[in-house]
Amino acid sequence: MSTDADALIIGAGPAGAATAIWLAQAGWRVVLVEKNTYPRDKVCGECIAAGNLDLLDSLGVGRAFRSLAGPELRSVAWMCGTATAVAPLPRAQGSHTYGRALGRDQLDALLVARCRELGVTVRQPETVLRVSGVPGTFACSLQDRTGTAQLVQVAIVIDAHGSWEAGPQHRAASAERCARKRSDLFAFKARFRAATLAPGLLPVLAFPGGYGGMVRAEQGRVTLACCIRRDSLARVRRLAPGASAGVAIESFLQSSCAGLRLALTDATRGSAWLSVGPLRPGERVGAADGLFRVGNAAGESHPLIGEGISMALQSARLLTGLLATESATTMDPGRQRELQAHYARAWRCAFRQRLRFAAVFAHLAMRPLLAQSVGGLLGRRPQLLTLAARLAGKARRPAEIRLLHEEI
Ligand SMILES: Cc1cc2nc3c(=O)[nH]c(=O)nc-3n(C[C@H](O)[C@H](O)[C@H](O)COP(=O)(O)OP(=O)(O)OC[C@H]3O[C@@H](n4cnc5c(N)ncnc54)[C@H](O)[C@@H]3O)c2cc1C
Repeated sequence: MSTDADALIIGAGPAGAATAIWLAQAGWRVVLVEKNTYPRDKVCGECIAAGNLDLLDSLGVGRAFRSLAGPELRSVAWMCGTATAVAPLPRAQGSHTYGRALGRDQLDALLVARCRELGVTVRQPETVLRVSGVPGTFACSLQDRTGTAQLVQVAIVIDAHGSWEAGPQHRAASAERCARKRSDLFAFKARFRAATLAPGLLPVLAFPGGYGGMVRAEQGRVTLACCIRRDSLARVRRLAPGASAGVAIESFLQSSCAGLRLALTDATRGSAWLSVGPLRPGERVGAADGLFRVGNAAGESHPLIGEGISMALQSARLLTGLLATESATTMDPGRQRELQAHYARAWRCAFRQRLRFAAVFAHLAMRPLLAQSVGGLLGRRPQLLTLAARLAGKARRPAEIRLLHEEI
């Protein structure tokens, strides 16, 4: 079959855009489809761990990222009720020692601009409605904002559509997404001006039924992002009748977390609250539908550890490391399936431990008595907080990801 491109990528978040850049650098003909117009804001804590700054360099946006991003993140805090424990963040080996934060409106736009520079066909705003066919001969149905549809034929489809909305291959799963559970997590984000959060401090917030984080990003702006269970959100909203969910959470956090209250004393909210949900952290990399998956589409850790962008970039690195040595046009379906199995093994090796660690930590944070005990322990032994950040992947280097190919 003659194809319009070697690969089509669904979604231009960090996972999709990074995959497009590395495949284009390897000489592939790539179509990247994104349904939203950029720049667009997004629910996210916006921290990028140090190890990924080398990846941003390899993507060709490292310098621009560093010129825009907030200060180096050198310490981490656990804030719960009236207690705050602070510890140094682990130093990463390599050219960049500490992570930084940059608004997703800027980061995602930088990556897509780089895709265009490298000749990737960026179709934006367009939505991938359906993917049919099998590896080697996929037909992707795209629709633009006017409702005009078009079919694009490609050898390989890479799903990078995230995890907070149904993707084109997931129509059947939408019933499951609609089943409401008390434990469903909803995520919120807002930005603040004139906050007094210490530059370089990355506080983790633990509160009943939820957790969150704050960070100083570009131009002194502070991002506050959090997740809260459905049942806790209902309780919080009853405390603030008539307020929007985001405003109710803000006032609950102000009243329940002393560290946050202090940081936001003179601050003003510079954006409306954004929200998404329900989130379903977990692993999806092994789906047997013939698509490769990167970023949240492959698997999502609880956002407590703030590693989703890292996992997006690192999974893109893993996958493109495998694909770049292949020729999309001559790769038969059997070879694609072999590579999918290989990639899924490498993915689990790279991320499964992080997913489990994040789940344990998230459940500790959401239970008030446990969270307070953890806070007490971390106050006495702050080195444990540094260790936790290390286990979460904060000092992990991309070189370790590359080596995984050799181990598998
Ligand atoms: C509260 C919270 C705080 C967080 N904090 C951090 C943090 O500090 N650090 C960190 O590293 N991570 C953090 N994360 C996680 C991070 O935001 C995600 O893991 C990351 O955005 C995943 O990137 P992605 O590229 O896989 O997906 P996304 O960023 O979700 O991108 C997917 C893209 O696909 C597009 N799309 C979807 N469907 C289609 C379609 N059918 N056709 C075309 N386009 C489509 C979407 O519009 C979107 O732009 C946080 C998450 C939450 C909820």
